[in-house]
Amino acid sequence: MSEYMPEGISAFLKKRLSEHTVQTIKYKYGTVIKTGDGVARISGLPETKYGELLRFENGTYGMVLDLEENRLGAVILDTGDTVSEGDTVIGTGRVAEVPVGNELLGRVVDPIGRPLDARPLIANEYSALEQPAPKIIERRPVDTPLKTGILAIDSMIPIGMGQRELIIGDRQTGKTSIAIDTILNQKDSDVICIYCAIGQKASTVSSVIDTLKSKGALEYTTVVVSTASDSPAMQYLSPFSATSIAEHFMKNGKNVLVIYDDLSKHAVAYRTMSLLLHRPPGREAYPGDIFYLHSRLLERSACLSKDLGGGTLTALPIIETMGGNISAYVPTNVISITDGQIYLENELFNSGIRPAINTGLSVSRVGRAAQSNSMKKVSGTLRIELSKFREMAVFARFGSDVDVTTAKMLKRGAVLTELFKQEKSKPYSNFEETALLLAYKTGVFEDIELKNLKKFCSLMLEYVKTDSSAAASKINTSGNMDESDERALVSSILEFKESYNE
Ligand code: ATP
Ligand code: MG
Repeated sequence: MSEYMPEGISAFLKKRLSEHTVQTIKYKYGTVIKTGDGVARISGLPETKYGELLRFENGTYGMVLDLEENRLGAVILDTGDTVSEGDTVIGTGRVAEVPVGNELLGRVVDPIGRPLDARPLIANEYSALEQPAPKIIERRPVDTPLKTGILAIDSMIPIGMGQRELIIGDRQTGKTSIAIDTILNQKDSDVICIYCAIGQKASTVSSVIDTLKSKGALEYTTVVVSTASDSPAMQYLSPFSATSIAEHFMKNGKNVLVIYDDLSKHAVAYRTMSLLLHRPPGREAYPGDIFYLHSRLLERSACLSKDLGGGTLTALPIIETMGGNISAYVPTNVISITDGQIYLENELFNSGIRPAINTGLSVSRVGRAAQSNSMKKVSGTLRIELSKFREMAVFARFGSDVDVTTAKMLKRGAVLTELFKQEKSKPYSNFEETALLLAYKTGVFEDIELKNLKKFCSLMLEYVKTDSSAAASKINTSGNMDESDERALVSSILEFKESYNE
């Protein structure tokens, strides 16, 4: 008897029905007992976990950050008084997550992955915002340079892939510009960038997005945004979200650069949230775990071992100081967590030295090892020379007569300072940086008037690039410069100098 005969069908159906089990989803309900300032106190929901997402009656999401015996404290993720007392809440059983993967490239999202650029976002994978940092065994030493295209940084404070380098300075000293220039400079490399804006004005963020778009950098960048008008909880989540997006790329063997702009505002948002949750305040009213907040975030930057795909996550956190005070609580914390800092100074910025990097207070603790061969050959003594010049310049200001060697040193220092001035969004290629410093080493700049130096440099670079094109393209592609390349470059530089008249 075939199973398609009527008897066969009924037996078949009976069998299927007996196997069938009804799946029910069990929701646990709770009730809002108190709400205000973006925090809700909830009774019920006994099995909720720390960090779990809750859904309120009107569809708003909240996140559990306080577990007490009889009640929960949750922050409401959306702004506005959308939740009221007596509302019903359900636990979603999930912690906060963000979509990850290639779909995120070229997109602008909020900290929980909702698109802000008016296009739907369909992702196949999600990742929790909080993840454990890679273990020591899973890491390898930093060995590849991450080029910023900014001469002063690449030569004196080099950054390696997998490093955490802090950009610190007062307001309006060019912090964001350095970070954005670094993103722009990754255009022809394989580095994926994540720009995370925390608590900034929406207009500032939109101008950053415009810059990225107009320079063709948005296609390899994801922008994670929480603005000043978002809830403190959203601002608190955004760097974690950016890191999760970046980590997914890193685990797939990619090189990723993350900018946190800025962690001072992040600390303030966390302080607001903690005070609203009645956590005890400590120094400068920050909660006791403010160090842990940033260390567990930045510890996720890594240079993964080859067995794990060899991906890297480089972090450039930004900190805003008040009146140049780098010894305040949050700045000292982040300085001690990161592998070096780029210190920007108001005074230098206002005197026209831009980028306004104070080379004496800036340091890169691991990047030197990762510097390219060509850069290592030309940048060895620059820091010492520059600091000697700064020291001498103070005395020279008194107008006293100086001897010939000192005068020469002052001139060389002034040339170096001028050479390091660089407009924003004008990154140098590896070859250009090497050629400029090589020219400085050979002393061809010394009888050029300072005001003509930039013009001389750009003409010289053009000449050398065509005259020694083989060496130029070799330095650009491999970062290596052997003796014959160096000789070729120097002779092109000298040839150009001879033909040049001001
Ligand atoms: P904020 O504290 O407001 O975030 P910031 O420290 O991030 O400021 P930026 O916004 O990067 O500073 O720059 C401040 C101003 O300085 C901008 O108008 C920018 O155009 C200008 N600027 C920054 N770097 C340079 C540069 N290298 N050359 C010329 N102008 C620059
Ligand atoms: Mg800024």
